[in-house]
Amino acid sequence: MATSQDVYVVHYHEVGLKGRNRDWFENRLAANIRARVKAFGIDRVQPTAGRLLVEPGGEFDRPGIEEALSLTFGISGFACAVRVAASREAIVDAALKLAAEQPFESFQVRARRGHTSFLDNSQTLNEVVGQAIKDSTGARVDLSHAERTFHVEVVHNFALLYTEKFDGPGGLPVATSGRVLALLSGGIDSPVAAWQMAKRGAEVGFIHFHGQPFSDPSSVRQASRLGRRLTGWLGRSRLWLIPFGDIQSEIVTAVPQELRIVAYRRFMMRIAEALALREGIGGLVTGESLGQVASQTLPNLTAIGSVVASMPVLRPLIGRDKIEIEADAKKIGTYEISIQPHQDCCVLFVPRKVTTHATAAELESAETALDAQALVEKGLANATVEELPGP
Ligand code: ATP
Ligand code: MG
Repeated sequence: MATSQDVYVVHYHEVGLKGRNRDWFENRLAANIRARVKAFGIDRVQPTAGRLLVEPGGEFDRPGIEEALSLTFGISGFACAVRVAASREAIVDAALKLAAEQPFESFQVRARRGHTSFLDNSQTLNEVVGQAIKDSTGARVDLSHAERTFHVEVVHNFALLYTEKFDGPGGLPVATSGRVLALLSGGIDSPVAAWQMAKRGAEVGFIHFHGQPFSDPSSVRQASRLGRRLTGWLGRSRLWLIPFGDIQSEIVTAVPQELRIVAYRRFMMRIAEALALREGIGGLVTGESLGQVASQTLPNLTAIGSVVASMPVLRPLIGRDKIEIEADAKKIGTYEISIQPHQDCCVLFVPRKVTTHATAAELESAETALDAQALVEKGLANATVEELPGP
């Protein structure tokens, strides 16, 4: 039963390594957690001695809070703890109450002392608490395969005790690594790529190119569902929708068919870069993976990436294989959405042949018949934006 004595203790590791930026990282992580747990009526999230405390105060929704914490990047692990005064008696008393909750045959105590002014050191605390549990339950101490582990963390003038620990997703807190714009198709790969960059602390916005008026709105619906699903990890975000059918029909008039897929991608990149510059976003993200399809060979990736000069094109999936990517897509909850049928804009005017070795020079020469700048401006001018409200 959750009571007002209970707090969540949240641990992080990479954040702790950030030296002088540490306060800033901790505060960001605290703000991200606060934004998540607000929905459960909680606003107290405090950095305290190298960990964060989430204080519900009163009754609270354990599964809801635990799901929210398990989706917050930067958290390495967390636990729901009882908080008591940092005295030997109070700690032993709380440990015995925890021990009485469920029977067990073997156990260990793992004490950590956040500061040295507490009288007992960790080893003494392990022994004192261990002896008391042993006496009251008859269970044996087992330091390698304990059935239950009693964690004790002494923090300032209080101590936290818990027996169950949950893993967090790791990574860095979202919005500690700048902003990126993820090119989101309706497929399996690009949502995973966006998720990976969020895990590295990027704040992620989305751009989707659709074939309207030549195709139905299914890919837009798809992108919107994927973006909304990802906000569970990212927090609130935005999806820019670019009508691309007219632009493709112009590309078709100038570019030989085997170069068209690469040319479409080059125009997507140009429009995405222009939008990113306008919005103060510092990088583009794609779901490309080396050799996965004909358009993702080294020469083609070079021809696609070479139109972007002002920011990096990040391809977090470049060295991963499809099986791994699909497993991640299932884990993060996008796979089921991605496999729904939808009309991708690139199947419009789809070429029968795709070269695996386009060169930037070949494309530039084919594109001279087009007013690239005007096409980019047209893409931006017709953009609409959808707010993704977040969890
Ligand atoms: P995905 O599963 O993400 O669609 P894919 O392996 O099918 O990737 P492509 O369809 O060749 O590969 O697309 C490569 C990348 O280009 C995508 O991962 C995505 O980042 C971007 N992209 C492709 N189509 C679109 C689109 N309609 N809107 C936005 N980005 C797109
Ligand atoms: Mg695709």
